[in-house]
Amino acid sequence: MTAINLKDFCANPESDDREVLCHPFTKGEWSYGTNGHLLLRVPRNEAICAEFPRDKWGDVFELLDTLSAQKLELQPLPYYGECPEDEENNCGKCMGMAVIDGDCDECGGEGVLYAPVSVDLFGKPFAYRYIKKIQAFPNICGKLVPSPNGGPDMLFFSFDGGEGALMPRDRPAPRHFSPIPLS
Ligand SMILES: [Zn+2]
Repeated sequence: MTAINLKDFCANPESDDREVLCHPFTKGEWSYGTNGHLLLRVPRNEAICAEFPRDKWGDVFELLDTLSAQKLELQPLPYYGECPEDEENNCGKCMGMAVIDGDCDECGGEGVLYAPVSVDLFGKPFAYRYIKKIQAFPNICGKLVPSPNGGPDMLFFSFDGGEGALMPRDRPAPRHFSPIPLS
Protein backbone atom coordinates (compact mmCIF):
# COMPACT_ATOMS: atom_id res chain seq x y z
CA MET A 1 0.00 0.00 0.00
CA THR A 2 1.25 3.47 -0.83
CA ALA A 3 1.79 5.90 2.02
CA ILE A 4 -1.31 7.59 3.27
CA ASN A 5 -1.54 11.19 2.20
CA LEU A 6 -3.20 12.89 5.16
CA LYS A 7 -4.06 15.81 2.92
CA ASP A 8 -6.66 13.55 1.28
CA PHE A 9 -8.48 13.44 4.59
CA CYS A 10 -8.47 17.16 5.25
CA ALA A 11 -11.23 19.64 4.55
CA ASN A 12 -11.38 21.19 1.09
CA PRO A 13 -10.51 24.89 1.35
CA GLU A 14 -12.87 25.64 -1.54
CA SER A 15 -15.88 24.41 0.39
CA ASP A 16 -14.80 24.75 4.01
CA ASP A 17 -13.77 27.97 5.70
CA ARG A 18 -12.36 26.19 8.75
CA GLU A 19 -8.79 26.81 7.68
CA VAL A 20 -7.44 24.74 10.56
CA LEU A 21 -8.99 21.58 9.04
CA CYS A 22 -7.55 22.17 5.58
CA HIS A 23 -4.05 20.84 6.23
CA PRO A 24 -2.54 17.94 8.22
CA PHE A 25 -0.96 18.66 11.56
CA THR A 26 1.18 16.96 14.14
CA LYS A 27 0.48 16.61 17.82
CA GLY A 28 2.65 14.51 20.08
CA GLU A 29 3.37 11.06 18.66
CA TRP A 30 0.87 11.34 15.83
CA SER A 31 0.18 13.24 12.65
CA TYR A 32 -3.44 13.93 11.80
CA GLY A 33 -5.76 14.73 8.96
CA THR A 34 -9.42 15.53 9.50
CA ASN A 35 -12.34 17.25 7.83
CA GLY A 36 -14.41 17.34 10.99
CA HIS A 37 -16.27 14.08 10.20
CA LEU A 38 -13.43 11.69 9.59
CA LEU A 39 -10.30 11.89 11.71
CA LEU A 40 -7.25 9.88 10.76
CA ARG A 41 -3.92 9.63 12.50
CA VAL A 42 -0.67 7.93 11.58
CA PRO A 43 2.61 7.72 13.49
CA ARG A 44 4.28 11.13 13.71
CA ASN A 45 5.50 12.30 10.34
CA GLU A 46 8.31 14.81 10.78
CA ALA A 47 7.51 16.33 7.39
CA ILE A 48 4.19 17.53 8.79
CA CYS A 49 5.28 20.30 11.06
CA ALA A 50 2.07 22.24 11.50
CA GLU A 51 1.01 22.04 15.11
CA PHE A 52 -2.65 22.11 15.88
CA PRO A 53 -3.11 25.74 16.95
CA ARG A 54 -6.04 25.23 19.29
CA ASP A 55 -7.21 22.49 21.56
CA LYS A 56 -10.76 22.56 20.28
CA TRP A 57 -10.68 18.82 19.63
CA GLY A 58 -8.49 17.94 22.56
CA ASP A 59 -11.16 15.61 23.90
CA VAL A 60 -11.17 13.65 20.65
CA PHE A 61 -7.39 13.26 20.74
CA GLU A 62 -7.57 12.07 24.32
CA LEU A 63 -10.35 9.69 23.42
CA LEU A 64 -8.24 8.15 20.65
CA ASP A 65 -5.37 7.75 23.10
CA THR A 66 -7.71 6.09 25.60
CA LEU A 67 -9.32 3.80 23.02
CA SER A 68 -5.91 2.82 21.66
CA ALA A 69 -4.70 1.91 25.11
CA GLN A 70 -7.79 -0.19 25.85
CA LYS A 71 -6.93 -2.76 23.18
CA LEU A 72 -10.59 -3.06 22.26
CA GLU A 73 -11.89 -6.06 20.40
CA LEU A 74 -12.47 -4.60 16.98
CA GLN A 75 -14.48 -6.26 14.24
CA PRO A 76 -13.77 -6.33 10.53
CA LEU A 77 -15.92 -3.79 8.71
CA PRO A 78 -18.90 -5.24 6.85
CA TYR A 79 -18.87 -5.84 3.11
CA TYR A 80 -21.04 -3.69 0.86
CA GLY A 81 -20.27 -5.25 -2.51
CA GLU A 82 -20.80 -3.01 -5.50
CA CYS A 83 -22.49 -0.33 -3.44
CA PRO A 84 -23.52 2.74 -5.46
CA GLU A 85 -21.60 5.91 -4.71
CA ASP A 86 -22.62 9.50 -4.16
CA GLU A 87 -24.00 11.17 -7.26
CA GLU A 88 -24.53 14.63 -8.54
CA ASN A 89 -27.49 14.85 -10.88
CA ASN A 90 -28.82 17.70 -12.93
CA CYS A 91 -31.69 19.33 -11.07
CA GLY A 92 -35.01 18.16 -12.52
CA LYS A 93 -36.80 21.40 -11.76
CA CYS A 94 -34.50 23.82 -13.60
CA MET A 95 -33.11 21.06 -15.85
CA GLY A 96 -29.62 21.95 -14.70
CA MET A 97 -29.94 25.58 -15.81
CA ALA A 98 -29.84 26.75 -12.16
CA VAL A 99 -32.26 29.64 -12.73
CA ILE A 100 -36.03 29.96 -12.96
CA ASP A 101 -36.89 33.63 -12.33
CA GLY A 102 -33.84 33.85 -10.10
CA ASP A 103 -32.04 31.02 -8.38
CA CYS A 104 -33.89 27.70 -8.64
CA ASP A 105 -35.34 26.94 -5.22
CA GLU A 106 -34.94 23.18 -5.70
CA CYS A 107 -31.17 23.17 -6.15
CA GLY A 108 -30.37 26.58 -4.63
CA GLY A 109 -29.04 27.83 -7.95
CA GLU A 110 -26.44 25.09 -8.24
CA GLY A 111 -28.06 23.33 -11.18
CA VAL A 112 -27.22 19.98 -9.60
CA LEU A 113 -28.64 17.96 -6.74
CA TYR A 114 -26.29 16.05 -4.54
CA ALA A 115 -27.44 12.49 -3.80
CA PRO A 116 -25.33 10.97 -1.04
CA VAL A 117 -25.27 7.27 -0.19
CA SER A 118 -25.25 5.95 3.36
CA VAL A 119 -24.67 2.46 4.68
CA ASP A 120 -25.57 0.63 7.85
CA LEU A 121 -22.46 -0.02 9.89
CA PHE A 122 -22.93 -1.88 13.17
CA GLY A 123 -26.49 -0.48 13.28
CA LYS A 124 -25.73 3.18 12.60
CA PRO A 125 -25.90 5.15 9.32
CA PHE A 126 -22.55 6.30 7.96
CA ALA A 127 -21.66 8.17 4.78
CA TYR A 128 -20.50 5.53 2.34
CA ARG A 129 -17.87 7.82 0.79
CA TYR A 130 -15.96 7.73 4.08
CA ILE A 131 -16.48 4.03 4.69
CA LYS A 132 -15.16 3.31 1.20
CA LYS A 133 -12.08 5.40 1.92
CA ILE A 134 -11.19 3.65 5.14
CA GLN A 135 -12.02 0.20 3.77
CA ALA A 136 -9.02 0.63 1.49
CA PHE A 137 -6.72 0.40 4.51
CA PRO A 138 -5.11 -2.97 5.29
CA ASN A 139 -6.71 -4.99 8.08
CA ILE A 140 -9.23 -2.28 8.87
CA CYS A 141 -11.35 -3.09 11.92
CA GLY A 142 -13.66 -0.99 14.02
CA LYS A 143 -16.14 -0.66 16.83
CA LEU A 144 -18.82 1.85 17.83
CA VAL A 145 -17.82 3.86 20.87
CA PRO A 146 -19.47 6.74 22.75
CA SER A 147 -18.46 10.08 21.27
CA PRO A 148 -16.70 12.48 23.61
CA ASN A 149 -19.30 15.25 23.43
CA GLY A 150 -22.33 13.12 24.24
CA GLY A 151 -23.36 12.90 20.59
CA PRO A 152 -24.24 9.68 18.77
CA ASP A 153 -21.82 6.78 18.96
CA MET A 154 -18.93 7.13 16.55
CA LEU A 155 -16.78 4.56 14.83
CA PHE A 156 -13.32 3.98 16.20
CA PHE A 157 -11.16 2.19 13.66
CA SER A 158 -7.69 0.81 13.44
CA PHE A 159 -5.60 -0.57 10.59
CA ASP A 160 -2.03 -1.50 9.77
CA GLY A 161 -0.46 1.95 9.82
CA GLY A 162 -2.89 4.11 11.75
CA GLU A 163 -6.24 4.62 13.38
CA GLY A 164 -9.02 7.12 13.58
CA ALA A 165 -12.63 7.97 14.21
CA LEU A 166 -15.65 8.62 12.03
CA MET A 167 -18.86 10.40 12.98
CA PRO A 168 -22.14 8.80 11.86
CA ARG A 169 -24.83 10.62 9.89
CA ASP A 170 -27.81 12.02 11.76
CA ARG A 171 -30.06 9.75 9.73
CA PRO A 172 -29.83 7.43 6.74
CA ALA A 173 -29.59 9.09 3.32
CA PRO A 174 -32.48 8.48 0.88
CA ARG A 175 -30.19 5.93 -0.75
CA HIS A 176 -29.20 3.70 2.16
CA PHE A 177 -27.69 0.24 1.93
CA SER A 178 -27.15 -2.65 4.29
CA PRO A 179 -24.08 -4.86 4.35
CA ILE A 180 -24.01 -7.98 2.23
CA PRO A 181 -23.78 -11.06 4.48
CA LEU A 182 -20.73 -13.18 3.84
CA SER A 183 -21.84 -16.77 3.64
ZN1 LIG B 1 -32.58 23.58 -9.98
